[in-house]
Formats: sequence, C-alpha cells, structure tokens
Amino acid sequence: MSAVSMQVDTPAAQQGQRVIEGYAMGKTLGAGIQGKVKLGVNLQTGQRVALKCMDKNKMGRDRTRQMEMLEREIQAMESLQHPNILNLQHVTMSAQYPRKGTKGTKDVVLLALELAEGGELFDYLMHTGAFGDDIARTYFRQMLSALELCHNNGIYHRDLKPENLLLDANFQLKLADFGLAAVNLEMDTLCHTCVGTKSYMAPEVMARQGYDGAKADLWSAGVVLFIMLAGCPPFQQAAPGDWWYNAVRSNRHDKFWMAHLRSAPDFPKLAQEFLNLIFVADSSQRASIDDLWNHQWMQGRVLQEAELTEVMQEKNREVEARKEAELARAREIGRAHV
Ligand code: ATP
Ligand code: MG
Repeated sequence: MSAVSMQVDTPAAQQGQRVIEGYAMGKTLGAGIQGKVKLGVNLQTGQRVALKCMDKNKMGRDRTRQMEMLEREIQAMESLQHPNILNLQHVTMSAQYPRKGTKGTKDVVLLALELAEGGELFDYLMHTGAFGDDIARTYFRQMLSALELCHNNGIYHRDLKPENLLLDANFQLKLADFGLAAVNLEMDTLCHTCVGTKSYMAPEVMARQGYDGAKADLWSAGVVLFIMLAGCPPFQQAAPGDWWYNAVRSNRHDKFWMAHLRSAPDFPKLAQEFLNLIFVADSSQRASIDDLWNHQWMQGRVLQEAELTEVMQEKNREVEARKEAELARAREIGRAHV
C-alpha cells in the first residue's frame, strides 16, 4: 500500500493524524543536521518507534554525498546486531512525509528505529551533573562492547558523543547515529575525512592526517567517559593551542589532572590512570580495546540492569522537571516579547 493511500484510508488518518508508511506520527524527539526524528506508532502492531525522516530536497548540491552517507548509515546499522546498538527496523528510500495541515507531502528517506525511551545521555549529564564511578563504568563498558562489534566488522562510528548515546526504557545504552560511520574499509586502511564533533575528535582527526578509525573512536569514548565523571569536557579541542591538550601531548598528564582536579576534586584516581592510556596523542601508542578491557578500573563494580534502571529513573525525573522548567521559561520570555 502506498504512503498516500495509507494517509487517506486508515482510521488514524481519518482522525486527522499524520501517517507515514503505516506509522502514525507523534511528537518530535530530536533534530539533527539530516532532519527531524519523530515518535511513530506502527498502526498494525501498536509498536512505538523513532522515525528518522531526511528531506531529500534539502540535500541540495551535496545530495549525492548525503545519499551515500545515508546508505552507509543503513548498511552499518543493518549489519550490526548488539544489545547496545540501536536497532534499525525498517527503511524506505522514498517515502511521502505529510506536512502539517493541507500543505501536501515531501519526499524523504525514512528510517524506523528502535525507540530509545530514555532519551540522550547528554541530557542526564547536562541536567544532573557528573555520574558516580559505578554508573560511568557501566555505561563505558556497554559503549566499548558496542564499539568492539563495530570495529570487528570494519565499521568506525566517528561521531561518538553523549548526544548520540541514547538510553532505552530500562536506561541501557544504545549507540546511535551512524551517519558519519566509515564502512567496509580494509581493517588496516586509514580514514582520511575530517568528520565528527570538534571537542570529541582525536588529535590525528583534527590534524586531518590519515587515521586509524578504531583508535580515533577510542579517543572520543575517552572524552565521553571524562565527561561522565567530571561533568565537563577534558579539552576544548585536541589541537595545538589548547592548554589541556598541550599538557597531554607533552606527556604531562600530571599537569592536566592537577588543573582538572580543581573543579572535579572527586575524579577517581584509577579512572585517571585509565584515561591516561586513552589520552595519548600518538595513536599508535594509544590503548587498544583489549588493553582497556584488561585494565583494573574496568574490573570495578558494574550495575546490573535493574539497579541501573532504578538509579537512572531517579535522574530521569530530575531531567524531565528541568526540561519542563526550561520550556516554561522560554514560553514566559516569548510572551514578554509579544
Ligand atoms: P546529528 O548529525 O546532529 O547528530 P542526525 O541528523 O544524524 O543528528 P540523530 O543523531 O540520529 O540525527 O538523531 C537526532 C536526535 O534525535 C538524537 O540526538 C535524539 O535526541 C533523537 N533520536 C534519534 N534517534 C532516536 C531514537 N531511536 N529514539 C529516541 N530519540 C531518538
Ligand atoms: Mg546525532
């Protein structure tokens, strides 16, 4: 059945609800450079999903490249099945997205993704501050386990950051957004594109040198871990000129920590030693995934699923309350300007 007839025929559409490819569209969950992500409900099964809709007409002159990136994203996600990697359930390369009201439709690529009910890890760090050692270790282990599968399949994420680490309804981590992933490179081939988000980028990526995708992902994973434990980032960017990066580059991790400990005095000592293996400017000297699994910090306490759900549920209430307060403030400001 075509998307257009779904729109006309289904009871949901008759009730004025927008429908795309058999999914009733709900609220906006997030937005990225590639388009909006909406809540969707499968009209046949009632299952809730996230609908990532990418407007083909907004791809402009860069369309061929963007379509290539999208195909890469799809290929990466389809080949990876892991409890900590967001599952791709359905793809339509050309779907008709119903605009609001009677403004017709637009042509989009539609991905139906497993719904991450818990939202972005970023929101928790932003609204509830740093995590304790046990929560940080639990999430880091989940992230590393997901990355290990990616790397073993020759897939490098290249955009690891808390906005792309989502949480499911039980607050287990789901690696998302493979839009920048490098796929099917020979394992020993170097990546050459400068992609990612600056504060999370490895120094060799910033320097636009050919780089080892696995080692670059581990640097970014280290940045995420640092933020989980400190509540702020370790570097502005890993490039000469950045005081924090210069300390690391000249092997003065002692200076790096002394300065950071002024604002994060409780940063666990063993985690500092662990991060010293990741924050190594020369990627050939940087720890590998195996080195990380074997480190003493990784052997510490890990929260079981039910425990993690319980502590994060508590944080979730705080996140929701703060987001609500922010929205109310924004509405207040809006009214004041009318
Ligand atoms: P960017 O390139 O800016 O990171 P993007 O266009 O590649 O964004 P995503 O990162 O995949 O898009 O999604 C954007 C946001 O939408 C996420 O940060 C998240 O808040 C929300 N989102 C994406 N997928 C899901 C999902 N499966 N469940 C819940 N929310 C989601
Ligand atoms: Mg993203």
